[in-house]
Amino acid sequence: MTEGNEKSPLEPCPKCGGEVVQAETLAGNTWLLLMKSRSAAALSLGLLRGTPVTARVCLACGYTELYATNPDVLK
Ligand SMILES: [Zn+2]
Repeated sequence: MTEGNEKSPLEPCPKCGGEVVQAETLAGNTWLLLMKSRSAAALSLGLLRGTPVTARVCLACGYTELYATNPDVLK
């Protein structure tokens, strides 16, 4: 598993070629999470494994791509 610590330049916007920056995502007042299934039982037991999502946003046109920070948990 690779950590995303290295600063690699983000690719330009696929729509307009503008500058793209990374941004955090929030759903209401909590992190937006991706998970394999939504299980109330697993949620109450704290067993849910999910991955936060970061966004890459074009500063010119607003085009946004979402990336799971830890997609391995969805395997
Ligand atoms: Zn753009």
